[in-house]
Amino acid sequence: MTSPTHKRVLLKVSGEALMGMRDYGLDTKTLKAIAQDVREVVALGVEVCLVIGGGNIFRGVSGAASGMDRVQADGMGMLATVMNALAMQNALEQEGVPTRVQSAIPLASLCEPFIRRRAIRHMEKGRVVIFAAGTGNPYFTTDTAAALRAAEMDCDALLKGTQVDGIYSADPRKNPQAERYETLTYLDVLARDLSVMDAAAISLARENKLPIIVFNIHEPGAFTAVMKGEGRFTTVI
Ligand code: UDP
Repeated sequence: MTSPTHKRVLLKVSGEALMGMRDYGLDTKTLKAIAQDVREVVALGVEVCLVIGGGNIFRGVSGAASGMDRVQADGMGMLATVMNALAMQNALEQEGVPTRVQSAIPLASLCEPFIRRRAIRHMEKGRVVIFAAGTGNPYFTTDTAAALRAAEMDCDALLKGTQVDGIYSADPRKNPQAERYETLTYLDVLARDLSVMDAAAISLARENKLPIIVFNIHEPGAFTAVMKGEGRFTTVI
């Protein structure tokens, strides 16, 4: 068996990735498929933590666009990520993977508060830690929360599970001429404005020399393949 290339990683999954073919909310089959992939990677001996977005339920910018106060709307967006984190916890535990949810906004009856040292201890014990409520601050995204937590947790890599198998020059589902990149620098991503993660997340990863690996979250086994250095993905370094 090929040994994993990383010891500890953070996987960012957007809320939209959890919708499956639906227009809103959560798709149980998709959650199960992602949970199975995470279980396989944990079985390789890799320590895994997750950041889940909330865009399948509510986004602060959309609330603000329809007239809400932005800070109020972002509070709702962060709570949406907590719902997704609890759903992912449920899916992982149904696969037999021990987990803890840690929220940046304390929700004592539902999950633990974010405590860095405790999160590291959980991972050392083989538990998957799901970080909920983003950074706990408005005006940020869960991409930035993912880069922040990955740096805090001393992860070897930040994995971004997307709808396609890497970073392309344009959306390959709309443009068949789109070019797929194997490797990019952080500055390439920023300069070419490639829509993979927002600029704050890319800058944070760059400052902390945290490689970003982009792969298709919907391809069964792709997460495991990436962890073995196999399969199709784009690395940003
Ligand atoms: N959010 C926030 N602060 C954070 C992370 C998220 O206010 O640190 C809010 C923001 O309103 C955002 C929503 O939570 O729109 C859902 O997160 P995001 O849009 O990043 O989810 P994704 O696109 O990954 O599903």
